[in-house]
Amino acid sequence: MSPRTVDVLLPLGLDTPYSYAVPEGLDLEPGDLVHVPLGTRGMIGCVWPGGGSAPVDAAKIKSVKAKLTFPPVPPDLLQLIDWMADYTLAPKGMVLRLALRHGESPGPQRERVGVRLAAGEPSRMTAARAKLLAFLADGFVRGKGEAAREAGVSPSVVDGLVDDGVLETVVLPPEPAAETPDPTHAAPALSDAQRLASDALQQAVAAKAFSVHLLDGVTGSGKTEVYFEAVAQALAEGRQALILLPEIALTQAFLDRFTRRFGVKPAEWHSGVASRRRARVLDGVAKGEVQVVAGARSALFLPFTDLGLVIVDEEHDPAYKQEDGVCYHARDMAVVRARFARAPIVLTSATPSIETEVNARRGRYGRLALPERFGGAKVPGLAPIDLRKEGPARGRWISPRLAQEVGETVESGGQALLFLNRRGYAPLTLCRSCGHRMKCPSCSAWLVEHRFRRRLSCHHCGYQAPVPEVCPSCNTKDSLIPCGPGVERLQEEVQTLFPEARSLVLSSDLTGGIERMRAELDAVARGEVDIVIGTQLVAKGHNFPGLALVGVVDADVGLGQGDPRAAERTFQLVHQVAGRAGRGAAEGRGFLQTHMPEHPVMQALVKGDRAAFYETEIAARQEAHLPPFGRLASLVVSATDGHAAESHARRLAACAPLADGVRVLGPAEAPLAILRGRHRWRLLVRAPRGFDLSAYLRHWRAAAPKVTGNTRVAIDVDPLSFL
Ligand code: ADP
Ligand code: ZN
Repeated sequence: MSPRTVDVLLPLGLDTPYSYAVPEGLDLEPGDLVHVPLGTRGMIGCVWPGGGSAPVDAAKIKSVKAKLTFPPVPPDLLQLIDWMADYTLAPKGMVLRLALRHGESPGPQRERVGVRLAAGEPSRMTAARAKLLAFLADGFVRGKGEAAREAGVSPSVVDGLVDDGVLETVVLPPEPAAETPDPTHAAPALSDAQRLASDALQQAVAAKAFSVHLLDGVTGSGKTEVYFEAVAQALAEGRQALILLPEIALTQAFLDRFTRRFGVKPAEWHSGVASRRRARVLDGVAKGEVQVVAGARSALFLPFTDLGLVIVDEEHDPAYKQEDGVCYHARDMAVVRARFARAPIVLTSATPSIETEVNARRGRYGRLALPERFGGAKVPGLAPIDLRKEGPARGRWISPRLAQEVGETVESGGQALLFLNRRGYAPLTLCRSCGHRMKCPSCSAWLVEHRFRRRLSCHHCGYQAPVPEVCPSCNTKDSLIPCGPGVERLQEEVQTLFPEARSLVLSSDLTGGIERMRAELDAVARGEVDIVIGTQLVAKGHNFPGLALVGVVDADVGLGQGDPRAAERTFQLVHQVAGRAGRGAAEGRGFLQTHMPEHPVMQALVKGDRAAFYETEIAARQEAHLPPFGRLASLVVSATDGHAAESHARRLAACAPLADGVRVLGPAEAPLAILRGRHRWRLLVRAPRGFDLSAYLRHWRAAAPKVTGNTRVAIDVDPLSFL
């Protein structure tokens, strides 16, 4: 008799599962994680649905070694993995890997040890021992570390008293991964508009069915407040909720708000969480003990077993798109997971992506609008400053009018924010003597000077070098000069213009990590800074009550570089930044420095006419058959040898299948022609809406010549980046 077999998918670059024999007495279900032999090693894999019947040579087949005690992958997640692999063309095993906590194993649970008072007498008494004994006099058990910390003594004092028999040790139960949020802890009084939206969302949760809602509200309208009510509904029904945030590492403020509403913090899930803690969260999610997870895009792959609600906060944020390895958009995949889990999903934004806006217009997504700020504060308008007519002097970036407005704001005790989406001191360094430009040795990109760190750095590959004293090309001393502004250089200008004002640069280059960032953001919120100079980092979700003025230093950055999403991105960023101002008592004001005030995006921003922006942009996309009115996929062929990349790209283009309405553009050298030492050639596929692009790409890939050497082809379905 041939042995029972199962299909096991391994977290490797493979599309199909392998068959393994099931040992006598072992019961395996799809989703179970198992240890299997592979080559000379062992590996963790996932029992895949649909296997088990293939006749396999009994002598050759290897056998499952063991079933792991890890939580199994739930059915909706198995479906998501299948669906994503099919849609993105990534190997199924690599998608599975996203769900196996990035392939790392959690390791054994560390035992927690507590201490309490016992009968013994201390061999000697010291001040520290007396302090600790006084703290433990009530006879309660305390964690060892906690006891030392709370009593203000070193852990060795605890150990000493344990050795003397004065304290005894007790094994404590493992700490819960998260405490249980209380849906009734501090329910807010909602405005009428908020109530309408929150009722609709609560009904969607109660319906226990798949639905998509766009919670569309201006910045400060209380979107968070409203979706918390949907979370409360899920909690009241004893179900789980997932909240995706674009940049969780910076959203301490979000965790605090959640705590105020529900009494405890949600479980956090992102790369900054220690792996042991992540293992506990994962376990808690699988067992249903963790009810709410707030996390980055990878939280999408957690083994929720009773998902009652998914929220994608700031759904338009490009941070949701993952661009290496498995290329996927976490917002879109969240919708897919919600569909498989039969759960409602809520997308929130003050500036929805064109895709989502069109879905709402077509009625595929329900729209819940919050047109006004809570408490009646006004979203500031933006006054244009035409840089062609009233620009600053050469080598300066703040126009006289903006400078005057900032000065007046600070004088009257308000805060100002200057927004420039360029990190560092200067985007280009060149030699005054020979014109040489400092470039990255492995990318076709200029090196950006970072003056705080005294280095030149490549923003694409992370290469760094000190600023040389002589020009590397002509050897002239002290001839290198910075060109163009970055936030650090802007601060220099601010310090010259307003020597009395307290200024602060906020960008992702801040040394000191997340902790420092949180501290700085708090300082701004407390009013300890007069002028904030920030990159897109400041556009996201922060609440600065004292902020009265926002100046967009260069609204044109990013526009006109052949990126079809540049207009949308500019609109979203500037709108979000402007939304930071005027949240508190002071009325907000905004200024927009631009060389093209007549550009439709600038016009829409100046008039505060969001509808006009969407009209123009949607019409333009429709006209050009761009998403969501057509579909795109990009193929980037790269190799260390430029000719190899180019010739493979050409052979690939030559064997593109013919299909009605499908056009293959290129190959063309990528705008970022060299990245990390690899030459890059791009192909772009344009297809009609509703066309099965994934199937097309699959046919194409099957017919394509084999790649040789280190040539690679990276496929990105629904690309956001065109670099
Ligand atoms: P959004 O997410 O739309 O930008 P928030 O949810 O951050 O808006 O709300 C903006 C501010 O208004 C926050 O400080 C929030 O606490 C406050 N707020 C909104 N709605 C209410 C409410 N119903 N009761 C009390 N405060 C509210
Ligand atoms: Zn580089």
